[in-house]
Amino acid sequence: MVLAQLGGSISRALQQMSNATVIDEKVLNECLNEITRALLQSDVQFKLVRDMQTNIKKIVNLEDLAAGHNKRKIIQQAVFNELCKILDAGKPSFTPKKGKPSVVMFVGLQGSGKTTTCTKYAYYHQKKGWKPALVCADTFRAGAFDQLKQNATKAKIPFYGSYMESDPVKIAVDGVDRFKKENCDLIIVDTSGRHKQEAALFEEMRQKPDLVIFVMDSSIGQAAFDQAQAFKQSVAVGAVIVTKMDGHAKGGGALSAVAATKSPVIFIGTGEHMDEFEVFDVKPFVSRLLGMGDWSGFMDKIHEVVPMDQQPELLQKLSEGNFTLRIMYEQFQNILKMGPISQVFSMLPGFSAELMPKGREKESQAKIKRYMTMMDSMTNEELDSSNPKIMNESRIMRIARGSGRQVREVMEMLEEYKRLAKIWSKMKGLKFPKKGDMSAL
Ligand code: GDP
Repeated sequence: MVLAQLGGSISRALQQMSNATVIDEKVLNECLNEITRALLQSDVQFKLVRDMQTNIKKIVNLEDLAAGHNKRKIIQQAVFNELCKILDAGKPSFTPKKGKPSVVMFVGLQGSGKTTTCTKYAYYHQKKGWKPALVCADTFRAGAFDQLKQNATKAKIPFYGSYMESDPVKIAVDGVDRFKKENCDLIIVDTSGRHKQEAALFEEMRQKPDLVIFVMDSSIGQAAFDQAQAFKQSVAVGAVIVTKMDGHAKGGGALSAVAATKSPVIFIGTGEHMDEFEVFDVKPFVSRLLGMGDWSGFMDKIHEVVPMDQQPELLQKLSEGNFTLRIMYEQFQNILKMGPISQVFSMLPGFSAELMPKGREKESQAKIKRYMTMMDSMTNEELDSSNPKIMNESRIMRIARGSGRQVREVMEMLEEYKRLAKIWSKMKGLKFPKKGDMSAL
């Protein structure tokens, strides 16, 4: 089950339960069975799912919950905690720091998405102000250097490799030395995907890598447990990145299986493009899966794209519940800069990846651009009003004429505005959590 579907099934099960007039044993069981089914379909190990079900039942003792207790909230919290427990594998062995040179070595089987992920990892950090560099120490696969070179060039990231040299150790050492001299703070070494070579590479490099990241394809589901164990035995894996979470049914199984080897997942790959890459943090991830939004992911994106001086103002306006057409316009501008919009929307409570389906981004982007053209024909009064009633017939006709669009389309855009305004109005007074602080959930 692709993640959006898994999340959809779990949140639907919780929703159905809250719709029931009385939450009794039968309703709870139905809800838990639904969640169990979704997790098993996603290839999460049977024992983990069974333990989770038992634990939730233990925590949520319906008879002990006096009337007035918010059962729905208690159950949702229990599901949240149990899912977090399944996915939590602690902290990575090392976290690179901006401005301090670190060497990060990538290992993983061929085809897992290693080379693509090296570039995504570099690009992610580059956008946050780091100075990353890529070294291709894969001398085994013909074309590996070309692939890395191509990716790196596209992302404007310095790279190093050789067509002639056959010794990966030599390339790795030379590359690391060179980029250290150039003051790069994140030197990423891509390897060939053969256990023996990687173990030797690790041993023989003059400067041992600070962190070894194991890259794994999520399509193998719970078999990820054996693969992660095998790699851990040959090289000191400090963190894991799970790729292809966008297209495979078994993503949940892979994530939970990796966690069971006590290897923390730090990022997930959600597509072939450079920016289809997300930080993996257990609590925000589960929160998003349950349709509760992912404030830290959203804030991360806001910090990435909204100019620093506009951030406090935007958050202030949103928390006042004043969602005007101008805010919608500015947010559309930001969304167009943010990259895959399905990713951004899925972090907001009230939106789901199902609303902005993957693969239909082009359509959604075109729609946003169309809306923005119409808003360009609006007056300041219209843009700054938070009262949709001022949009009378003559104004709508004028906007349609001004933007060369149909009246029907202007009305559709205003409907979308009302829908968004309604969602945001629920957040009135909400304290936006600071980065990483999920206590407001
Ligand atoms: P390597 O052999 O491990 O270096 O793997 P590559 O980086 O060459 O990737 C193998 C294939 O997987 C390529 O076609 C990539 O575009 C694709 N790929 C990598 N990561 C992802 C991902 O997160 N999602 C999807 N859909 N494809 C990916």
